[in-house]
Amino acid sequence: MDLAQEYGTPLYVYDEATIRGRAAAYREGLQGAYPGKSLVCYAGKAYCAPWLLKLLASEQLGLDVVSGGEFFTAQRAGFPIQKMYFHGNNKSEDELFLALEAGIHRVIIDNLEEVERLSRLAAERVVEQGVLLRVAPGVEAHTHAQILTGAPDTKFGVSIDTGAAREVAQAIQRAPGLRLLGLHAHIGSQIFEIEPYLATVRRVFDFAAELRSAGNFELHELSPGGGFGMRYATEDQQALAPEAVAKVIAEAVSGEAWQRGWPLPELTIEPGRSIVGPAGVALYRVGSIKEINGVRTYVAVDGGMADNTRPAMYGARYSAVLANRVCDPVTDTVAVAGRYCESGDVLIKEARLPRPRVDDLVAIPGAGAYQLSMASNYNLVPRPAVVVVRDGKVRLVRRRETYDDLLSAEVM
Ligand code: PLP
Repeated sequence: MDLAQEYGTPLYVYDEATIRGRAAAYREGLQGAYPGKSLVCYAGKAYCAPWLLKLLASEQLGLDVVSGGEFFTAQRAGFPIQKMYFHGNNKSEDELFLALEAGIHRVIIDNLEEVERLSRLAAERVVEQGVLLRVAPGVEAHTHAQILTGAPDTKFGVSIDTGAAREVAQAIQRAPGLRLLGLHAHIGSQIFEIEPYLATVRRVFDFAAELRSAGNFELHELSPGGGFGMRYATEDQQALAPEAVAKVIAEAVSGEAWQRGWPLPELTIEPGRSIVGPAGVALYRVGSIKEINGVRTYVAVDGGMADNTRPAMYGARYSAVLANRVCDPVTDTVAVAGRYCESGDVLIKEARLPRPRVDDLVAIPGAGAYQLSMASNYNLVPRPAVVVVRDGKVRLVRRRETYDDLLSAEVM
């Protein structure tokens, strides 16, 4: 309540201890179970802001970036370049140039065109760029179709099954300026089972064996990606614990390597959502309440699909509480609607709450990932402020946008 009073709403509130705790749990889980070199690479797409990258760097994490903008932000935050990995299915020449010029640690090659583009840039700079190849392992995980990436029908990576992965791997091996150091796979997001990861590890090792037998390839580095699920709504299933995920993956990778008599590859995992998602809460103020008799009650808040597009885009579910009346009995089922001009702008279709009143504060937990990073200025509404709480102290890390900010790129 005090935070809403001081900083206004909508407001995003992050808990630093939760982020540190989850980052450390992944890191220690890998280190404890994997005798080789390992790195937890935070997937910046979940939320990329200077304060957060500084914090994660201090937890010794690596970083996966997917655009020049994320890369630039990481550089401004002083993130160590030797822990940065550049992903993306259509990196531009300018983005690759920027990354190579700065000495990016690894580029994850996604397609054949990128091989030529990157090779030319690397050769011009007379550097040998270490790369991994992103393969589509043909593993299906149970998640929403829009966040599924490992199945055969995907725009990401190159398929092992169709032979495309082999073709691109060979192109990399022939390309001047590139060194194929390993393989990468990412099978989707918001995944709650461990089996698809184990299947991915097996599939990637089999493919590595194929490349090895063709000569001139060693699996020095391997990433089975991220995508570990988190709990949003109270009725959702429990998520896998970070230490447990890290341990099972570490054992699967070391088991495959030992079985084949190979040295242990450097192992990287890439959680994004499951590190920052549970650490964020979105706070909104109720502005109007519309009771449609026998149909539904719409409780309109001052944010919505522009700061959280997930319900409209994937039908994502959330739970809410009234932050100013947490002890009041839950009596009503209402729709928490956003303020934007789309009928689909409903954050929660059936929220269980005490009977809401105008000026109540609706708090939606699990708001730390893929919300602000996907936020827009739809309807020309300024994006929210962000604060971080640590040991009971609050710091503002992003001020609320102003109307001037909205026009800052317009040529008047
Ligand atoms: N790695 C890659 C290559 C991704 O594309 C993604 C997200 O889609 C992630 C990691 C992170 O996924 P999540 O935030 O669900 O952990």
